[in-house]
Amino acid sequence: MDQKDQQLHQQFSEYGQNAREWMRKCVLLLPEIERREIWHKKGFGSIFEYAAKLVGMSRSTVEDGLRIMKKVETFPALEAVIEVAGVNRVRPVLGVVTLETQDFWAEKAKSMSKNTLETYVKNYRLESRTSTETQSVKLTIDLSPAMVEKLKRLKGAGTWEELMEKLLAGVSEKPTDLPEVVKTSSRHIPLHIQRQVRSRSGGLCAYPGCVKVATSLHHTQRWGLEKVHDPARLHGLCTEHERLAHLSLIENEEASPSDWTLRSEADMTTDKRFIDQFVALYRPT
Ligand SMILES: [Zn+2]
Repeated sequence: MDQKDQQLHQQFSEYGQNAREWMRKCVLLLPEIERREIWHKKGFGSIFEYAAKLVGMSRSTVEDGLRIMKKVETFPALEAVIEVAGVNRVRPVLGVVTLETQDFWAEKAKSMSKNTLETYVKNYRLESRTSTETQSVKLTIDLSPAMVEKLKRLKGAGTWEELMEKLLAGVSEKPTDLPEVVKTSSRHIPLHIQRQVRSRSGGLCAYPGCVKVATSLHHTQRWGLEKVHDPARLHGLCTEHERLAHLSLIENEEASPSDWTLRSEADMTTDKRFIDQFVALYRPT
C-alpha cells in the first residue's frame, strides 16, 4: 500500500465511523419522533418513509430501534450504553436484565463484543437454572436385548445414574494419560500436546455445554506467569469463551472444565488479571 492508498483507506474508515455514530444518534431520537408524530406533521405517510427518505434508514432498523428503545426505557444504565455503542450491543441482555441488575448488565455490555456477551448471557442463564433445580433429561438409545440384560445386571439395586458414573469412571482419562509438562521459553505449544488437548474435547470448545469449534488453546494459568505448557491446564476454547477467560470471568479456571462456571465479576485477586488486562489492551472487545 502506498501513501495515497493508506490515506484513502483512512478517510473511508473515518467517514464510516462518523456515519455509524450519527445513525446511532438518529435511532435514539426515534421514540420521541414516533410519540410526537413528527413524520405525520411533516407530511410523510409513516415513520418508516420519514426515516428512509431523510436518513436512508431501513424499515427493519426503525422497527428494531423502536422496539429496543421501548424495552430499555426503564433501564437508564442500558440507554447510556446504547448512546455510545448502539442498540445491537444491548440486545443480548434484554431477556435477563432487571431494575436491580441493570448496572451489572450495562457494565458487561460495555466490556464485551455482542458475540461474547451472547455467550455470557447463555451460560449465565443455564448456570443459574441448574443451581436451583436439578432437572433430568430422557435419553433413548438402541441396544441389543443381550446388552440391556447385561446393563440391568450391572445396575443391580442401584440407579441408572450410579451405573453410568461407574462406567464413565472407567473410560474417562486418567491424569497419567496426559503428556508431560513442558517448561520452555517458547510460546509455541509442542504439537503432541496440541493434539492431545484438542482430541480430548473432540476439537470443540471445552466450556461445559459449548459445542463451538475450539479456535485457540488456552493456558488456564496464563503462559506468561509460569512459562510451561501443562496439558492438564491447556484447553481448547471457542473465541467467545476465550474472551470470557481473558476477562477473568471463569471460576475454578485451573480445575477441570466440568467445574467451570461464570463469575459475575472479574477475579481481581490473581496475577492472571494483569496478563488479561494486557491482552485486552491489544485487541478490540
Ligand atoms: Zn465455547
